[in-house]
Amino acid sequence: MSGGAPATGSVIVAGGGPVGAATALSLAKLGCTVTLVDRQRPLPGPAAFGMDVRNVALSPRSAALLQQVEAWPSHAAAYKKMRVWEERGTSYLEFDATSVGRSELGWLVEVAPLLERLWQALEAQPNVCLVFGSAVDVVPTATEVTLFIDDEGKITELQAQLLIASDGANSAVRQALNVPIRNWQTGQMAVTTVVRTEQPHDDTAWQRFLLDGPLALLPSINPHLCSIVWSQSEAQAQARMALGDADFCTLLTRVSEGCLGQIQEAAPRQAFALNQQLAATANPHQRVLLLGDALRVVHPLAGLGVNLGFEDLQELLLVVAQDADFNVPGQWDKFARQRLLRSEIMLRSLKGLKELYGNDNPWVGWLRNAGVGWFGRRQWLQRKAIEEATGLRNLSS
Ligand SMILES: Cc1cc2nc3c(=O)[nH]c(=O)nc-3n(C[C@H](O)[C@H](O)[C@H](O)COP(=O)(O)OP(=O)(O)OC[C@H]3O[C@@H](n4cnc5c(N)ncnc54)[C@H](O)[C@@H]3O)c2cc1C
Repeated sequence: MSGGAPATGSVIVAGGGPVGAATALSLAKLGCTVTLVDRQRPLPGPAAFGMDVRNVALSPRSAALLQQVEAWPSHAAAYKKMRVWEERGTSYLEFDATSVGRSELGWLVEVAPLLERLWQALEAQPNVCLVFGSAVDVVPTATEVTLFIDDEGKITELQAQLLIASDGANSAVRQALNVPIRNWQTGQMAVTTVVRTEQPHDDTAWQRFLLDGPLALLPSINPHLCSIVWSQSEAQAQARMALGDADFCTLLTRVSEGCLGQIQEAAPRQAFALNQQLAATANPHQRVLLLGDALRVVHPLAGLGVNLGFEDLQELLLVVAQDADFNVPGQWDKFARQRLLRSEIMLRSLKGLKELYGNDNPWVGWLRNAGVGWFGRRQWLQRKAIEEATGLRNLSS
């Protein structure tokens, strides 16, 4: 962790998902007195072929954060290359970690072991108190903030100098403070599952932009198992959820152009509605911050959600390293402006990318294909893109 005097402030973290748990742990390790509130301890998610069906792609910057707080999960699958191609084109892009002198572009991490590791570390931390219940209301004043918790009808109050809301996309804290959100309906759903493939994934993340939405085959620690995130229209998602396993595998083999041979077996599928949203501010009151999905929700096509949440935390820790008594007026102004700008840029980029690849106008298709070919021949530009995607460089700050 960063140097300097130990932090002494008191903090409530509402929501113990990946972002909230890492936030509580990081602040506790800096010396803050932390209360983490969640409805329950994380439960194991649906598993198939011996792995959690829920996976997130973590950038090297996110990995560094988790390693710093000693919460890096024991099984993380490194991906060394990424191949991107599209339904209408003949060009493809390949990003290789070696081009930026790295041995991996990032890791695919199963959510259940990640949360387990974080929560075990929290339970071992003497200055962390875990409280179970639902955050239902917030009253901030000039001197402190009160969070009201509902535990099976019994309402309790917690007070601290700072409240960090990391209670996800439907944040109760954000709603209690009437923070407006902008919501972009994508009209899409993601179908997710785990599949067994004929050929090994070669530690590569495969992503094909179909007109209806991107399909990602993401490597796991088993060379023949990949997790699937397939974004598509709601109507297509419903039709594909209704397919039998054999038909689903045949379809997946076809739409992935057999990049990993036959898709031999698929675990039960899940479908999620995909919306992008952004809160009007990351700092609705001097004593309240919004982090992670409570602040913004992005389309999963670039695997950025948790990474942006961890980035929020890294920027917050820089502020705390300067001053951690949480009583300084305007302490979070710059942080809040920067996080909002960063979120806005990422939301617009992902919306633009989705629209670019979803456009079936032949001229747009030609331009896209020519552009991909041009980009593919410019090593320096590819290096910049990799540095941005891995968090080694931030083009929007
Ligand atoms: C299909 C799909 C694929 C994705 N793939 C990736 C990927 O590859 N890489 C990536 O970085 N991101 C990915 N994401 C996004 C990622 O899952 C989210 O960005 C991430 O889970 C956000 O973390 P969080 O901690 O902010 O919120 P959450 O994970 O939503 O956690 C919120 C926590 O708050 C708790 N909570 C909620 N309400 C209350 C309340 N009232 N009181 C108390 N506690 C409460 C919940 O129990 C939960 O523990 C994907 C998302 C989807 C839908």
